[in-house]
Amino acid sequence: MPITHPDLPYARNALEPYMSAKTFEFHHGKHLKAYVDNTNKLIAGTQLENADLETIVKETAKDSSKAGIFNNAAQVWNHIFFFKCMKPNGGGVPSGKIAEMINAAFGSHQKFVDEFKNAGVTQFGSGWAWLVLDGRQLKVFKTPNAENPLAHGLKPLLGVDVWEHSYYLDYQNRRPDYLAAFVDKLINWDFVNSLLT
Ligand code: MN
Repeated sequence: MPITHPDLPYARNALEPYMSAKTFEFHHGKHLKAYVDNTNKLIAGTQLENADLETIVKETAKDSSKAGIFNNAAQVWNHIFFFKCMKPNGGGVPSGKIAEMINAAFGSHQKFVDEFKNAGVTQFGSGWAWLVLDGRQLKVFKTPNAENPLAHGLKPLLGVDVWEHSYYLDYQNRRPDYLAAFVDKLINWDFVNSLLT
């Protein structure tokens, strides 16, 4: 069963002006589609051909001879997750369980924001910044390239893409401004809370 290229969970222009339809035309329509197509080419005829996406990511993360499959499949997983982490009129201070957990783990929402943005800014080159559960401990985490928390046995709760293709059309080289918009205007905290039930 091939891996599918899912629709965005909102219209391409729904996150403007913070993330443009033009960015989604490339990021969802071309980058994610290429990762889906490459994954399907690479798993065809292998033992992973009928595996679900999360299984493909976890199995290939352990085997350096399968780095090509891992890089593409993990990027499919990462992008589908990242797009769900955003919504129109999102961002700001959450409510519910994640709010309590952030305050307990970081001391305040602002301390979490500072640490999360710092992880994104300091990820050298391409990669991702995450909020994860390590057992019962909430942590900020960052990964290079396609790597993700699943490859480290961690449960991802929130992720932001810091590859240049995620922000260059809207922010050029201003990664800190892009991360500020993600945190202040885009995070879908309802999605994050839904992962904790
Ligand atoms: Mn991307």
